[in-house]
Amino acid sequence: MSTVLERSAAFASRARELTPGGVHSNVRLSAPSIFFERGEGAWLYDVDGRDYVDYLLGQGPNFLGHAPARVNDAVAAEARRGSVFGANHVLENEAGELFLDTVGWAERVRFGVTGTESDQAALRLARAATGRTKFVRFAGTYHGWLDNVLMTMVDGKPAPGSAGQLPHGIAESYVLAFNDAAALEATLAEHDDIAAVIVEPVMFNNGAIPPAEGFLAEVRRLCDAHGVVLIFDEVITGFRVALGGAAERFGVRPDLAVYGKAMAGGWPVSALAGSAELMDLFAGGVVHAGTFNGSVPACAAVIASLRALREDPPYERLEAYGASLMRSIVEIGGDHGLPLRAQGLPMAFHVSFGDPAPVRDYAGLAGLDLDRYAAFSHTLADHGVWVAGRGIWYVSAAHADKELAATLERFAAAAAQAGA
Ligand code: PMP
Repeated sequence: MSTVLERSAAFASRARELTPGGVHSNVRLSAPSIFFERGEGAWLYDVDGRDYVDYLLGQGPNFLGHAPARVNDAVAAEARRGSVFGANHVLENEAGELFLDTVGWAERVRFGVTGTESDQAALRLARAATGRTKFVRFAGTYHGWLDNVLMTMVDGKPAPGSAGQLPHGIAESYVLAFNDAAALEATLAEHDDIAAVIVEPVMFNNGAIPPAEGFLAEVRRLCDAHGVVLIFDEVITGFRVALGGAAERFGVRPDLAVYGKAMAGGWPVSALAGSAELMDLFAGGVVHAGTFNGSVPACAAVIASLRALREDPPYERLEAYGASLMRSIVEIGGDHGLPLRAQGLPMAFHVSFGDPAPVRDYAGLAGLDLDRYAAFSHTLADHGVWVAGRGIWYVSAAHADKELAATLERFAAAAAQAGA
């Protein structure tokens, strides 16, 4: 039972009169109806005066913590000269240079606003480059909410994720099990209409499932063998699992990669990056557009965020913090008779109830009790730990000893209540 917070309840009831379900993104429909008035570092503060250690981080963008002064000061200062010109401006080159230098492998970048749209740009580019129409994806990944990518699995088969979705959207892709290189080999051998393979290098959107040893390298090899464009969807992994993202951490170069979330200190910026050969197709016939692409505040946010990450890389601290937190969650669960499990990487991992054995694909998640965890996430909110109901925990550069201590104390109280 969630605690009723009076002022949040009043906001929530008004919100339902203003926007469907009281939320501006369907992903938030199942979250506790709590209204926040402020975020600072690793903390959120609600309208009823309660504080929360935050592991949702706005679904990942607040990798430097909430309201990072260096980023927000730069955005405010640069916005004084205007925000969007529909024409070139002086921060674009600096943002582009810093971005490409940080990513390491790519030669060109196009900034966007959301991961959803940059994923679409990547798929279109792959179709244009190959003259083929379809793509391969993996069950359980998320590449945005549009008709050709939104998907759920029903009885082991891909199905539209939404009412009103064009039915042929799903038919544009071949859907395979994550970590199954043999299935990819067979699919690429059988079909000659495949333009791209798109993959979340770590399947964070369902279970935070890491790639099996050698899986991404094998995907790379098979794409090369069949002239297929390899797209890494690094919207979650980019700048988070390593400064150079999953490409750096796993030592595999894609042809194209999509970035978002961690790249801009909480501001709405995405990017598509890749080889000059592919990306320059946008300068000749392949359309990609956006009124707000590469705006002044977006470039300022990218520059300040990437400088912060390069000058003081948080990755070792994140590894230590996250590893300790994952261990403690499981231990505290055990103390209270709760079969909690955690898997993923220390900077972003998945918590649920069930068998601790690692899950390696979407079908494996069926053995876990995800609904029980979703309910437990509300208990955690009652005790001042803010997490996503679907199990993913994000750690930021602002999480430190004080936050860890507060989290463990609060987590133990929630576990005691849930285990009682
Ligand atoms: N790709 C991945 C891997 C994501 O996790 C997300 C968002 N969670 C997206 C694409 C879509 O990004 P956005 O919500 O910015 O459109």
